[in-house]
Amino acid sequence: MAGSVLKFVMQKLPYISMFQATRRRLALWYTAVTAVLLLLFASGFYFYVRTTLVERVDDTLNHVVEIVERSLVIEPNAGGDRIFATVDASGPPLRVNVEASFRDNARAVEDDHIDLEWFGPGGQLLWSTLSEVLPVPLHVNPAGETVRVTQEVVFRQITERVQADGQVLGYLRVSHPWFEVTKPSRRLIVDLALGTSLMVGAVAAIGWLLSGIAMAPVRDSYQQLKQFTADASHELRNPIAVIQTNAQVALSDPEPEVEIQQKQFQVIERLTRRLGRLVDDLLFLARQESGLIPWAPASVSLAGLLEEVVEEQQVMAAERYITLQVEMPKDAVVKHRPGNPQMLTAPTASSTILGDPSQLTRLFTNLISNAVQYTPDSGTVTVTVKPAKHQGQMGIQVTVQDTGIGMDAEAIAHAFDRFYRADPSRLRSGEQGTGLGLAIAKVIVDTHRGYIHLASRPGKGTAVTVVLPLGEVGNG
Ligand code: ATP
Ligand code: MG
Repeated sequence: MAGSVLKFVMQKLPYISMFQATRRRLALWYTAVTAVLLLLFASGFYFYVRTTLVERVDDTLNHVVEIVERSLVIEPNAGGDRIFATVDASGPPLRVNVEASFRDNARAVEDDHIDLEWFGPGGQLLWSTLSEVLPVPLHVNPAGETVRVTQEVVFRQITERVQADGQVLGYLRVSHPWFEVTKPSRRLIVDLALGTSLMVGAVAAIGWLLSGIAMAPVRDSYQQLKQFTADASHELRNPIAVIQTNAQVALSDPEPEVEIQQKQFQVIERLTRRLGRLVDDLLFLARQESGLIPWAPASVSLAGLLEEVVEEQQVMAAERYITLQVEMPKDAVVKHRPGNPQMLTAPTASSTILGDPSQLTRLFTNLISNAVQYTPDSGTVTVTVKPAKHQGQMGIQVTVQDTGIGMDAEAIAHAFDRFYRADPSRLRSGEQGTGLGLAIAKVIVDTHRGYIHLASRPGKGTAVTVVLPLGEVGNG
């Protein structure tokens, strides 16, 4: 018991892990791509916010510079020189009254963490709101720069030369602590990192889920294919084994008895025929599924085709006293449709449809042979043909009705499955089908864009209905 479970698991393991690996790879790619995109977005966002912050600080500093410059108290410097006068300097020497100028400014800027320094025309520090002298040399830069004083103390500064009448009055340096930029920036980095990791985690989970959903149909069809291959090999193995045994026994007998040998050859012949039919059916399904065969429909007269199929099956039916008949209503109704020369008449039982004659022969052979096969002696099989509508299109409906053993709900549900056979013991004759007949019928009906339906009651009989559309006339 444990051994067989282990064997089962070992058999399934390779392809389970194959699908798992593919799923993992899909999810990984999905996550990686999203992570890269998120990272790009996060860094872009970070730099944007940081630049905006710096710009705002610079704006504030510029604003302060403007206010201070406007409130400077400038007075004549009697007896003084015109220091650093430019060429066109004219008026009397001027100087800034430091006391009067900065008394009010000091309080105004205190709340904003902004510090002011006033340097004389010669660069000497005259006045400052800072508690100690900054060890930063004077450097005129009205655009704003970041200055590191110590490891911790960093300022953003604007330094402007103040002039009046072409005379240099002094230098104004405005400083703002840099942490006003770094602190929110650092917060932003942490937040972005956290958000990005959360998002990547969520995307990984979603990716894993989505790739699982994407893999499901692949896994299903793989499962189906495996099942089909297993069933097909099983169906092939049995007859081959029996043929081999019969041939071996026949060969090993040094003085063969004609009668026994005859029987052995009969078995071999029967099984070879069965194998040939099976391979034929499998090939048909494989080809149909590959979609490689071009669909080149011809105009087919269903009535004529059915006549031929019934004729062929008549032998089998007669052997077992089964009445096999075709019912076709007379083509009485002829409707004229003005303005549509392509469709002058409504379809009648003898109308032609567009289809593949050999496939249609196969379809009705399968249905009628089933009816004959699963009907006890002296039963009746009736094939009815009449015009019908299918999905708003004109078509022809063929019903194969028998008075046979019928099928239970379980059998009806699986009748169109490949290799499905309802309890084989119900069969009287030794000849056993392969369970592909109805599966092939369904494929053929699907290729013809038709419709097939099976109705059955155990012990009462079965009716299989096929509706085939006429197809576009004059377009083939
Ligand atoms: P094959 O047609 O490949 O030789 P099969 O006849 O067993 O084999 P299908 O034609 O696909 O396979 O039919 C599937 C099963 O459905 C059959 O085994 C049979 O049990 C049941 N069945 C099909 N047609 C009828 C019917 N007319 N009456 C009763 N049972 C039917
Ligand atoms: Mg069959």
